[in-house]
Amino acid sequence: MRNQKLVLFDFDGVIVDGMNEYWNSSLLACEKFLNSNDISIERNLYEEVSDTFKEIRPWVKYGWEMVIIVYEIIKKTNPLNQKNKNDFLFNYHQNCQSILLKNSWVAEDLQKFLNNSRKYQINKDFEKWVQLHKPFYEVLNLIKNAKNKQIKTAIITTKGKIFATRILEKLNIIPELIFGYESGTKVEIASQLSKEHEIIGFLEDRKDTLLEIKKSKITNKIPCFLADWGYLKDTDRINLPNDITLLKLKNIDNLLAI
Ligand SMILES: [Mg+2]
Repeated sequence: MRNQKLVLFDFDGVIVDGMNEYWNSSLLACEKFLNSNDISIERNLYEEVSDTFKEIRPWVKYGWEMVIIVYEIIKKTNPLNQKNKNDFLFNYHQNCQSILLKNSWVAEDLQKFLNNSRKYQINKDFEKWVQLHKPFYEVLNLIKNAKNKQIKTAIITTKGKIFATRILEKLNIIPELIFGYESGTKVEIASQLSKEHEIIGFLEDRKDTLLEIKKSKITNKIPCFLADWGYLKDTDRINLPNDITLLKLKNIDNLLAI
């Protein structure tokens, strides 16, 4: 069924703005599971997302990195803040790795802490947890329109599949396929899907992911769209390759018009 049309969507930053949730869940992961004497967590920290966190979020690829960022922001000594933020970002990936090493942490464990923090909140008060996400209704409508046009939709996210599924159910969005980080990299998933579908678009807010899609021989023909409303770095909009289209929310219908 190579002629079955399919559209791929990233989740965070594209379908929902989950900034409040990332901050709350990562903070709770630090408080409940990290067991570190280097941090102390006051109640009021939960009330407002740190600006430093918001500004660093576009660099994040996997959830566990957010636990590290929050830990660095709330550290008692030499915390990450607006003054030293750019130094941190300059070597973002190496810094994340060296923080893991310094604390003898393993990325998979931090990811589990984040997942457990989410599970804890879902069990305690699902409605409250879900309200931490703000949907982009234009994107929800587009997913519904795709269904009307017999175009399948797949959501590929680097968060756990169960969490994206719970939010989508609440929003009354039922895509044909949902893949979480458990299913492999986005390029691997897109490669698999391209064997049986004609992928007519991939909407994502992480430019590096789209560049990887364009680099792979199997997926480089997939039309790629960078979501202008997502978590973009200032530089992402500059020097965008010709084969990646910057898509604004008001023009989102263009995605199905090709
Ligand atoms: Mg995203």
